[in-house]
Amino acid sequence: MSRRYIRHSSIVKAWATLGEECPFELLRADPGEPGCFGCGWRTPTPDAAERLGDSFSEWDLVGGLLEKAHLVDHSADPSLDDDPLNYALLCRRCHRSMTRTVFGVGDAEAAISWILGRPEREWAYQLLTDSPEIRAAVDQSNKREYARALDKLRDGLDAELARERTCAS
Ligand SMILES: [Zn+2]
Repeated sequence: MSRRYIRHSSIVKAWATLGEECPFELLRADPGEPGCFGCGWRTPTPDAAERLGDSFSEWDLVGGLLEKAHLVDHSADPSLDDDPLNYALLCRRCHRSMTRTVFGVGDAEAAISWILGRPEREWAYQLLTDSPEIRAAVDQSNKREYARALDKLRDGLDAELARERTCAS
């Protein structure tokens, strides 16, 4: 069975079109700037993104930094796989955490409430991923290398913050 590939930009466009009805504050605030629907982390994107015409196309350049999370799981209703409103875009940390959390696999409302309840991403993480050094490094690379560089950065920062938390407690 072939499934339609749904782009990140299509998902954002579908949610943003709901206007005030859109549950995700990040999209109501600025749907043109990619970020995690859960923790609100704004992902770095290459400068090339600024030259793109479509206001949502920047979302297609974030590589693996934002993942498509099902609201109603495939096993509960495979027909919703083609519906862009059945997806939220989450950073890997939020997505991993969502997968581990137990709620009905067919309950979109519960999934959305869970996403809205995610704690905000640490400001230090945002600051580091916004740095000009990171942006310059990724801007010169091709898309795959860009994703790889950011993956490395993310893993490093996650480990750093986990260590900080351990020291603080
Ligand atoms: Zn997140």
